[in-house]
Amino acid sequence: MTTAYELIAPERLALLGEIARSTRMMSSATVIELLKDIEQLRANGGEKRRPLACGLCYEEHGEEVHPHPECTWGRYPEHDKLTKVKDKSQAVYDFLQFATKHGVDLGRTVTTRVAVFEGSEDCTAVQPVEGLQLQELLAKHFGVDLVKLDQEKERMIDELRALNTPEASRG
Ligand SMILES: [Zn+2]
Repeated sequence: MTTAYELIAPERLALLGEIARSTRMMSSATVIELLKDIEQLRANGGEKRRPLACGLCYEEHGEEVHPHPECTWGRYPEHDKLTKVKDKSQAVYDFLQFATKHGVDLGRTVTTRVAVFEGSEDCTAVQPVEGLQLQELLAKHFGVDLVKLDQEKERMIDELRALNTPEASRG
């Protein structure tokens, strides 16, 4: 059984100690974080649970469940995929930025047939890969469908619009 002291992050515990020693007021953000911790502990019978990729829900008895009322996990599968690979794709992006800074750019080799003095011959050139092409390449690598992603975005906007439309004017 995990105790409350083990559940609360060490830095937060240190902050609490500091507050207790001084007459400093606790910020509302600290209180909210603490209440979240306590609620977590209460809801799970004292067990510390693994937070899920959505950032709102926690693993329950080893299973990924998404009961949080604001959680949309599963409704937008391509966005879920993006969320899951967020750290990895960020690492790839950071590396590419680092490489560029050191004069190494991602390039695509293209072959074209060019006319020469006696006929024609293949000529290769390296074209830089950046912007949209890079986005497409990253999406492909991480198995994210950009067309579906766009469709989901449209759906999200439609759903938000519907939520913001008062009942009376919906017809
Ligand atoms: Zn969730």
